Amino acid sequence: MCIFCKIVNGALPSNLVKENDEFMAFHDLNPKAPAHILVIPKQHVDSFNEVNPQTMVGMTSFIQDVAEIVGIKESGYRVITNVGDNGGQEVKHLHWHVLGGAKLPWGHFDDAESSKFL
Ligand code: AMP
Repeated sequence: MCIFCKIVNGALPSNLVKENDEFMAFHDLNPKAPAHILVIPKQHVDSFNEVNPQTMVGMTSFIQDVAEIVGIKESGYRVITNVGDNGGQEVKHLHWHVLGGAKLPWGHFDDAESSKFL
């Protein structure tokens, strides 16, 4: 069982922000911004590649609520899901990083060669 499934079933603790029948939001153990919350579907989905669009419908308002609860909705925030190896996904259970509480840096490649993706 993956670590986020263990959080869902109570085998591992979490610093809970919000929960309903379908989703759970808790603070990231190693925050990368002053506010860093993870939002997950309770039902295991490996990544964004496998998620049912219907799940995303509920996820949208849930994330908006989380931003409101932690007080970053008006100041701004970033919503990210890492997918697979190149995306840097470490936990193979779909999760959205909700980051805020400060002006967030926006990294980029100086030498990005995009021609093969055009
Ligand atoms: P990712 O690299 O996108 O898969 O992100 C995984 C995130 O999960 C990282 O930011 C970790 O800090 C976070 N994380 C791992 N284990 C836990 C945990 N038990 N509780 C809260 N956050 C966790």
